[in-house]
Amino acid sequence: MQRVRQLIRDVPNFPEPGIMFRDITPVLEDGQAFAQVIDTLAQRYVGQKLTKVAGIESRGFIFAAALAYRLGCGLVIVRKPGKLPRATKSIAYALEYGEGTLHVHADAVGPTDRVILVDDLIATGGTAAAAAKLLADCGAHVTEVAAVIELTALKGRDLLAPLPVHALIAY
Ligand code: AMP
Repeated sequence: MQRVRQLIRDVPNFPEPGIMFRDITPVLEDGQAFAQVIDTLAQRYVGQKLTKVAGIESRGFIFAAALAYRLGCGLVIVRKPGKLPRATKSIAYALEYGEGTLHVHADAVGPTDRVILVDDLIATGGTAAAAAKLLADCGAHVTEVAAVIELTALKGRDLLAPLPVHALIAY
């Protein structure tokens, strides 16, 4: 994972002052590194009888889609408001400033599904916790949250507990 770590770019004060943005786009642009991320995650989840991989808008989609293909699972997209055309379930959750809402198509997952939830990065864990609750509200069994990066100081892992978090790179 050293190559992947070296490719991640630290961008200070983006999107607002005081935030150190961890930019994963150079990882996507490097075929070997992108493949290593997906292959490493796939090795962990192959054989776990997962039915779906759920990705969180929007960088989560990139990793979730490749992983779902690799595992032979379906892809479920957890989206921001106003994007999904059919009946949805939704959940509101607290952001640093204000509130966010996530939606999933109501028939995208159900009680027969074992799902992992994927995002590029876990910070406070608030987004992933809301997405996990949304999938659980649909009846799915969410087994783990997978991310490329975990910002450990923000203790997202604690917020998500008892749901396990698996991250490839910790800051
Ligand atoms: P949180 O809900 O606090 O865990 O935030 C997670 C979401 O915000 C993920 O979708 C990340 O892509 C994004 N995010 C939060 N902090 C950062 C950061 N420092 N660098 C890049 N993305 C971030």
